[in-house]
Amino acid sequence: MIYDRNNIFARILRGELPCKKVYEDEFALAFHDINPLAPVHVLVIPKGDYVSNVDFAASAPDAMVVGFWRAVGATARELELDPLGYRIVANHGPNGGQIVFHFHVHIFGGRQMSHRMGNMPRPNES
Ligand code: 5GP
Repeated sequence: MIYDRNNIFARILRGELPCKKVYEDEFALAFHDINPLAPVHVLVIPKGDYVSNVDFAASAPDAMVVGFWRAVGATARELELDPLGYRIVANHGPNGGQIVFHFHVHIFGGRQMSHRMGNMPRPNES
């Protein structure tokens, strides 16, 4: 998939749309999700044109990959999630449920997460 420079997160990065910022450095921006699914739900996005983890992992410079993941950690620390823990999720493509095609990591915290990670139905459920 070709990166769309007008996706919502690209526009947030350019300052064209507002966000509730949590953390920012030269590699990444972190902000609260507009539709939180947990008491704390924050998105961390790299400052670069990457559709998903597939092209981020394949083509981002090493310093960007390291810087991005350090920013994820720094964001969780900023949110004071470290002591009790949190969940990180990255959706990729249609089966992953990705709806914004700028690579991002979700940080979920503030409550005990379900063990039904991935939200997949069990064999005896429809
Ligand atoms: P995805 O399913 O692509 O991994 O998740 C995209 C996330 O972006 C969703 O959780 C959605 O609520 C969030 N989102 C969509 N539009 C906006 C927006 O304009 N601002 C913010 N802060 N979050 C958004």
